[in-house]
Amino acid sequence: MPFSSLGVSRPIADAVAECGYQQPTEIQRQAIPFALKGQNLIAAAQTGTGKTAAFILPILERLSQGQTQRKKRVRALVLAPTRELVVQVADNAQQYAKHLNLNVLAMYGGTEIQPQVEALIEGVDLLVATPGRLLDMYTRRALHFDEVEVLVMDEADKMLDMGFIDTINRIVEKLPRERQSLLFSATLSNRVRDLAKSAVHDAVEIKL
Ligand code: AMP
Repeated sequence: MPFSSLGVSRPIADAVAECGYQQPTEIQRQAIPFALKGQNLIAAAQTGTGKTAAFILPILERLSQGQTQRKKRVRALVLAPTRELVVQVADNAQQYAKHLNLNVLAMYGGTEIQPQVEALIEGVDLLVATPGRLLDMYTRRALHFDEVEVLVMDEADKMLDMGFIDTINRIVEKLPRERQSLLFSATLSNRVRDLAKSAVHDAVEIKL
């Protein structure tokens, strides 16, 4: 089954093929058609299943169609627990977006603020960030959330284990209410479900 039969358009399907992917993985087969329709999702999927492309490809599809009023503002936000994961997700996104004209930025704590501020001024379509640094940048008014159309919480269980719940809640309450929300987690524990209840309404649930 090719990626195009899931509803992924040519420039993105080509980029994926150039990564050497011949077929979508199970999580990609299950999640991509729902995500492309704009539905909210909660998915139980471990690292190594191809979950990153499962949420990045639908985001790129959306971002490549249409523009917002304020062109330089963030339209898709991915929250991830660690610098390593943020960098990995942003690198993957950049590869899948190689035939598109979109800006992807990785943002994480423990590094200088100023280069990240400058990148935001240049314009970022897809921002991949750790929660603490993201809230810090928002509080400094280095970015706006009013054009955010999609929120992804990746490795939600790990973000909760690391104590990010308050930070995540504070971010979510500042986002537009009308948005698509996707949550990925190795396990769907009660705490993860509580987060989903407040941030991911009317979600389709996918379990591998
Ligand atoms: P992830 O679970 O998103 O961390 O992905 C695990 C690994 O699988 C990464 O190295 C991806 O580049 C790779 N991958 C993702 N989707 C596919 C696919 N459809 N076919 C082959 N490899 C893939």
